[in-house]
Amino acid sequence: MSVYDVVIVGAGPAGSIAALVAHRLGLKAVVIDRLQPPREKPCGGGLTPRTWKLLNRLGVEYPVYGSCNAIETRAAGYKYVLRKEPILITRRPDFDYALLKQSGVEFVKDQVVAVKGNTVVGKMGEYVGRVIIGADGATSVVARSIGIMNYQGHKTHAIAYMTIAKGPPSDTCVIDFDTVINQTKRVGYAWIFPLGEGANIGAGVGWGPWIDLRKLVVDYAEKAGYRAGEVRGHPLSLGHVAGVGSRHVLLAGEAAGLVDATTGEGIYYAVSTGAAAAVAAYAALKIYGNEKYAHGIYQELIKEYVEEVKKTRLLSRMAKTLGTKRWAVKLLGRRLLNLYTKVYTGEATYSLLLKPVEKL
Ligand SMILES: Cc1cc2nc3c(=O)[nH]c(=O)nc-3n(C[C@H](O)[C@H](O)[C@H](O)COP(=O)(O)OP(=O)(O)OC[C@H]3O[C@@H](n4cnc5c(N)ncnc54)[C@H](O)[C@@H]3O)c2cc1C
Repeated sequence: MSVYDVVIVGAGPAGSIAALVAHRLGLKAVVIDRLQPPREKPCGGGLTPRTWKLLNRLGVEYPVYGSCNAIETRAAGYKYVLRKEPILITRRPDFDYALLKQSGVEFVKDQVVAVKGNTVVGKMGEYVGRVIIGADGATSVVARSIGIMNYQGHKTHAIAYMTIAKGPPSDTCVIDFDTVINQTKRVGYAWIFPLGEGANIGAGVGWGPWIDLRKLVVDYAEKAGYRAGEVRGHPLSLGHVAGVGSRHVLLAGEAAGLVDATTGEGIYYAVSTGAAAAVAAYAALKIYGNEKYAHGIYQELIKEYVEEVKKTRLLSRMAKTLGTKRWAVKLLGRRLLNLYTKVYTGEATYSLLLKPVEKL
């Protein structure tokens, strides 16, 4: 049985970036995923400016199929159009596969069922890691194995559906709260993200029992002039972070619950914390000489991301109450959009922007 410096569970953006950084730091690593890449991951594929800037800084290449130069938001009968730096639209099978290939790390297809001490137990084999990185997404087995309940069904996660639809090209992203609120009486939004000849179209709702939005997505696509393909759903963290690891086990990306609960943006946190997890592993093993320090170092490295995400959970709860009220949207709509724009371009953080409010 091989012993690795780092065993990484999950070949999404968190796992592949953790692998890439671990490899660059000279650590012996392996990535395990239950699915053979390239695999589908239900997602809008939207790479916000802060995400593509981070990927560029890391020097990785990734496929882009569409670009939004304008974002049209529809809420409480109002329509706001914002033009900022573009949101780039990718396709997750190709994007994730590109990151994994560039990591230079060995890949093994296996379904992980538990973590016991330093051993990752799969259905096909066992993998020993001095540090273990759980990057196995929303319903993380690694998190559950170490007793961290970041995933508790609809209490902690929204449900979102998406399809790749054929239709007219566009350079505008649509974020539509009205359609979802009117049809489901729940707060959520539908989106249209352009992808060359077509679009990634989807919808999600949170804060309550999950509902099947497949018909809504197909009808919404048709109404906008697109022909929907297969519609797939997936849980999406509402920013519930019960923990990010323990001793030598680190949770990265959505396994740690790290998603902006107001927008559903998760790739940014996956890439950031995947990289941080690899750095923490390196520091524990090569500087402090003991894997037991990995979690402490990691907590310190990512504390601002965790704080940010916790704030989005609060904001999202507020949106649940106020999002359906026309007067509230009229009062706060444009201001909130400006705030989100500053955050997703990387110009500011929620923490910074909410500081004046916290002082009141
Ligand atoms: C419909 C939808 C739309 C979204 N749109 C956007 C968007 O436009 N922009 C954005 O930034 N974010 C979006 N998100 C969020 C984003 O998709 C996730 O936050 C992101 O994929 C998290 O990356 P990750 O690497 O942490 O986990 P994942 O991408 O989920 O990867 C986890 C990997 O672990 C593997 N795995 C899971 N369990 C096991 C196991 N037991 N053994 C082995 N392997 C396992 C899985 O096969 C998978 O490959 C969306 C989410 C949904 C559901």
